[in-house]
Amino acid sequence: MSSARAYLWPAGKRANLHVEMHAHATRLLFEGSRAVGVEYVRKGARLRARAAGEVILSAGAINSPQLLQLSGIGPASVLRAAGVDVRLGGDLGIRSADPFEHPRIRPNYLATEHDVQEMLEGVEFLRRLAATPSLSAIIEGELAPGAEVRTRDELLDDIRQRASTVFHPVGTCVMGPEPGSAVVDHRLRLHGLQRLRVVDASIFPSLISGNTNAPTIMAGEKGADLILADAR
Ligand SMILES: Cc1cc2nc3c(=O)[nH]c(=O)nc-3n(C[C@H](O)[C@H](O)[C@H](O)COP(=O)(O)OP(=O)(O)OC[C@H]3O[C@@H](n4cnc5c(N)ncnc54)[C@H](O)[C@@H]3O)c2cc1C
Repeated sequence: MSSARAYLWPAGKRANLHVEMHAHATRLLFEGSRAVGVEYVRKGARLRARAAGEVILSAGAINSPQLLQLSGIGPASVLRAAGVDVRLGGDLGIRSADPFEHPRIRPNYLATEHDVQEMLEGVEFLRRLAATPSLSAIIEGELAPGAEVRTRDELLDDIRQRASTVFHPVGTCVMGPEPGSAVVDHRLRLHGLQRLRVVDASIFPSLISGNTNAPTIMAGEKGADLILADAR
């Protein structure tokens, strides 16, 4: 069951729903600090949609911060370097003011001692698990990194060479009470701006230990409740 099938298809005939296919949002539109719509490109034409209520940004953990930065909302140094006028503070870097250029993503894997220790403990735990009687009975041998890689330094070298992402980016428009350290508040509204919310994996305060899809749907459900409650 995809989220489109679960949520979008049943709402397809609603008079207050209009879906624009093949539309690439290029920036959010503001009047002062109030979000009033979105600019997008479709089949080569630059178009605008105006929001009657508020603007909900749900472009995912990479593209939501990208769109905010393209709209002038983000770390001043990134925006100035990309030639975008400055407004607020945030994370994750656009390279230029071109909305079709992929943003620069610097994941900083294993940058802290805590990250390193967690990975090492994970590898050591897996080895202990594989050595239990029930599992060792059906395992012929360790393929990678291999039994010859033994010390913590050797394991760390291997982790640094082979570790990669499992595509669960979150927390790039993080939720929190302080405008200095968070992008959205507890009702998912942009700190310092009006009529603009982010509702997607970007708002997670930290990475959860499981997969991110279902928790993101939960954030969407909660976001919908907040939007409805505030509209009443
Ligand atoms: C390869 C891969 C495998 C994964 N496997 C799993 C898994 O097995 N289990 C799991 O739980 N999670 C998995 N995930 C993570 C999961 O897909 C995400 O956590 C989840 O989709 C996040 O939802 P979202 O709504 O935040 O963003 P998305 O699902 O990415 O939705 C954002 C939407 O915005 C659109 N968009 C972005 N920018 C623009 C723009 N400028 N204009 C118009 N539209 C735009 C995108 O096309 C997209 O449809 C995987 C992710 C990847 C990449």
